[in-house]
Amino acid sequence: DIILETHNLHCQYPDGTVALQGISIAIKKDKKIALLGTNGAGKSTLLLHLIALLKPTCGNILFKGKELQYNRSSLATLRSQVGLVFQDPDSQLFAPSVRQEVSFGPINLGLSEKQVAERVFRSLELSGIPHLADKPVHFLSYGQKKLVSIASVLAMNPELLILDEPTASLDPQNAMEIMNLLNTLNQKGMTVLLVTHNVEEAYGWADEIILMNNGLITGQGTPENILSQD
Ligand code: ADP
Ligand code: ADP
Repeated sequence: DIILETHNLHCQYPDGTVALQGISIAIKKDKKIALLGTNGAGKSTLLLHLIALLKPTCGNILFKGKELQYNRSSLATLRSQVGLVFQDPDSQLFAPSVRQEVSFGPINLGLSEKQVAERVFRSLELSGIPHLADKPVHFLSYGQKKLVSIASVLAMNPELLILDEPTASLDPQNAMEIMNLLNTLNQKGMTVLLVTHNVEEAYGWADEIILMNNGLITGQGTPENILSQD
């Protein structure tokens, strides 16, 4: 069962930079997948295509087997089922309090007040930050902001959770908590795509690795498969 797949995606930025040179990947349901590549490989660019914040120069994207259309209702469906946690929490967080931040998604989905409260409660519990519910976001630590940004995406109850370098700039303890959270979410049936340049993190955690370099996929398989190819 494949949630999201890309076929021969190319991306050239307006300044002429070619960031993707023919990316074909398939994200299988219920898996823990790591997209691994060095800085500049094109990982963030690919993610922006996966949630349709960028439109491919050429190639296409299939969401649950159907070609993605760039109209309002298809995009709303995609974004309610595919959640992206950005690398920099400050670019994602905007509400004054944690509760307001985490409520934003479910309110937008049109859920009732009671349902919103339940989603917020559950997301904060899962993320291990129920005690932060009434704190102002502005004064939280970087690690706490990171957890708030994850909780706010979880409140949408996505089938596929994508995280761009979620442990970058975190101390080992906070990084481990995030990796444990990703395992818990996967055990609950969520598909998780972790984007990282950290080789150990990827190989130690993922069911499947996608290697990316210079806008191309250079390998894909289980950690064992990939290691035996080298
Ligand atoms: P990664 O996330 O793997 O570090 P990126 O997708 O951020 O890689 O970048 C891939 C390439 O595209 C790099 O050469 C980067 O400089 C370039 N790039 C990224 N964003 C833009 C942009 N908005 N305009 C022009 N070039 C960009
Ligand atoms: P790339 O994927 O090309 O390496 P990044 O995703 O690292 O680009 O950076 C995206 C944006 O997030 C940049 O504007 C960068 O300054 C910012 N950023 C990256 N890491 C952090 C961090 N730890 N704290 C705050 N901002 C960050």
